[in-house]
Amino acid sequence: MNGRLNPGQLTELAPGIRRVLAPNPGPMTGPGTNTYLLGDREVAVIDPGPASDTHVDAVLNGAPGTIKWILVTHTHLDHSPAARALAGTTGAKVLGRPAPAGASQEAGFAPARLLDNDERLVTGEFTLRAVHTPGHASNHLCYLLEKCEWLFTGDHIMNGSTVVINPPDGNMQQYLDSLRRLKTLRLQMLAPGHGELIDTPYAAVDWIIEHRLQREAGVLAALQTNPDKSAVDLVPVVYRDIGEHLHGVAVRSLLAHLLKLEDDGRAQRNAERWRLTED
Ligand SMILES: [Zn+2]
Repeated sequence: MNGRLNPGQLTELAPGIRRVLAPNPGPMTGPGTNTYLLGDREVAVIDPGPASDTHVDAVLNGAPGTIKWILVTHTHLDHSPAARALAGTTGAKVLGRPAPAGASQEAGFAPARLLDNDERLVTGEFTLRAVHTPGHASNHLCYLLEKCEWLFTGDHIMNGSTVVINPPDGNMQQYLDSLRRLKTLRLQMLAPGHGELIDTPYAAVDWIIEHRLQREAGVLAALQTNPDKSAVDLVPVVYRDIGEHLHGVAVRSLLAHLLKLEDDGRAQRNAERWRLTED
């Protein structure tokens, strides 16, 4: 599936919708970050990508018209940092939400316009609506291209892998709530921050919700058979289906599950050792 994606490649996905792949493939980014270009005369960029001169050049070359707006889904380092160079070159206006505290955030990200849920960017060619989707990151926005019902999902939904929920900024309950919110929208296509387009939006959302709930059931079962263990101890029990090289990130999502279960009153901890809540 990912064999067709090459860094720097410009792909015309639909009339007025283009994609440039950033040169940052990896275990967490799949083929790399997708930068989307919307519009033919006046262009909005969604997720300019990592700080990479090569990528900024590819985006500038790929834009069919003047870049007027740069929208950011969230401020992880593979999504927002190129906004600075791109805005510096083009004078485009940067839109999004400021970075929360924490590692792997672009702390200095400073949008000229702060977008709240349901706010719109209206251009001569299209309207984009911001959908606040906390969970992967507290400041995460998806963007709905209203005329064709395409949703640009950033890291809320990736194609080809499940996203990491890294507490405290990542929050599993919020992630599930944000997935369910997508089901209230009219959607034809999901355009993820990593991987290919997804043309079965509702089935994809349902699969992710189901996958997370199955994982939660796995965590509950692991606590039943392995009480008073740390999250690190529980990873090989709960994540038997993934490679050991991913256990370091899996422990973050496992912690997110445990914290949700703690909030739900179903798990409790004592000095970072977890067990089921006694009835
Ligand atoms: Zn991210």
